[in-house]
Amino acid sequence: MSDETENGPTYGFDTLQIHAGARPDPATGARQTPIYQTTAYVFRDADHAAALFNLQEVGYIYSRLTNPTVAVLQERIATLEGGVGAVCCSSGHAAQIMALFPLMGPGLNVVASTRLYGGSVTQLSHTIKRFGWEARFVDFDDLDAVAAACDENTRAVFCESIANPGGYITDLDAIAGVADQVGVPLIVDNTSATPYLCRPFEHGASLVVHSTTKYLTGNGTVMGGCVVDSGNFDWSASDRFPSLSAPEPAYHGLKFHETFGNLAFTFHGIAIGLRDLGMTMNPQAAHYTLMGTETLSLRMERHVENAEKLAQWLENDPRVEEVTYAGLKSSPYYARVARICPKGAGALFTIAIKGGYEACVKMVNGLEIFSHVANLGDARSLVIHSASTTHRQLTTEQQIAAGAGPNVLRFSIGIEDADDLIRDLDQALLKATGQ
Ligand SMILES: *Cc1c(COP(=O)(O)O)cnc(C)c1O
Repeated sequence: MSDETENGPTYGFDTLQIHAGARPDPATGARQTPIYQTTAYVFRDADHAAALFNLQEVGYIYSRLTNPTVAVLQERIATLEGGVGAVCCSSGHAAQIMALFPLMGPGLNVVASTRLYGGSVTQLSHTIKRFGWEARFVDFDDLDAVAAACDENTRAVFCESIANPGGYITDLDAIAGVADQVGVPLIVDNTSATPYLCRPFEHGASLVVHSTTKYLTGNGTVMGGCVVDSGNFDWSASDRFPSLSAPEPAYHGLKFHETFGNLAFTFHGIAIGLRDLGMTMNPQAAHYTLMGTETLSLRMERHVENAEKLAQWLENDPRVEEVTYAGLKSSPYYARVARICPKGAGALFTIAIKGGYEACVKMVNGLEIFSHVANLGDARSLVIHSASTTHRQLTTEQQIAAGAGPNVLRFSIGIEDADDLIRDLDQALLKATGQ
């Protein structure tokens, strides 16, 4: 396979997750993508160097901006998402800053869902204030509230497709409709779903961000992030996005949108974002993540199959008070799964158990296959008791509002044998509740 993969729809997902972006190494014929462990690239001559620096020619200058191993991963993720381009960066949180950076500025705001990964809530509610940016948190099931939170200073709407951890599925089409009315891009964090379960661009999103640390890598080895552009947003339709539509002083007045068309956001991400913010993905990380993407669909199928089995088993267990998994018929979000994530509701859910805080601590200590860690999306099954760890600083009321009350455990279901996982849950519940 060679360049045909750039025509996306010609090949199925399973083929693209292995081949998109990659071709045998032109120098050696190496079939697997080499780790280009280099900082810099020799220019052919002075004119070549000048053309690269002026963005008149695309090529490699310095690995803070571009690297061939990272470039393969960028093309692969862009293809799997159905986007036109992607920029990888050092972590999922870096990807969120990289996505917002070209859009935002002092006094401007992003309207965000209250149901986000905990770290994203902290990043958006506290840290971005240092840049003079504001995040307005709203319940994304209340479309009127989302619309009401937007004003002339809004520059983006931000949510997760499957929101970690409470089994919540966002009605992306409806939210995209609101963003469209306001005239700003919808940014979707597609980490928990991956492009195998959900394709946000098909539901009107303009940009997708990923923590590649999670399912895309899939083995808990490296940190990484990615911003993917659908290429569909018209940055020049208003004067609200001057970084993309107005002359850029750092490139002699070049206008990104006029010059690079639907690749404007991607080029800006490299030429300004990575160049000046420096949140670069290293080629080793790109290598591990490329290895992960090759088996993405197979892993996600098993993640979902196991999550469904375990959630059903837990829901029927009298020691368990509640299971929040959108793949269960009892979930208020069950109907959205077929439309937004047709291949399954992911593999993250929370349970509430009898016996409260003490029982949860005993259960976490009693589990043998599940690891107690602050991570998700690993091949191995993971558990965390948020109230005694990630949400420890909050009051009980705040913990409950965040879906992380004292009696709640969050699971990230791995791809081990479902029967072994069920046996592990059973014996740990016995230790926790004495029943
Ligand atoms: C982990 C995670 C992030 C942050 O990604 P890092 O790679 O840890 O920086 C953002 N969003 C979601 C949904 C996540 O699970």
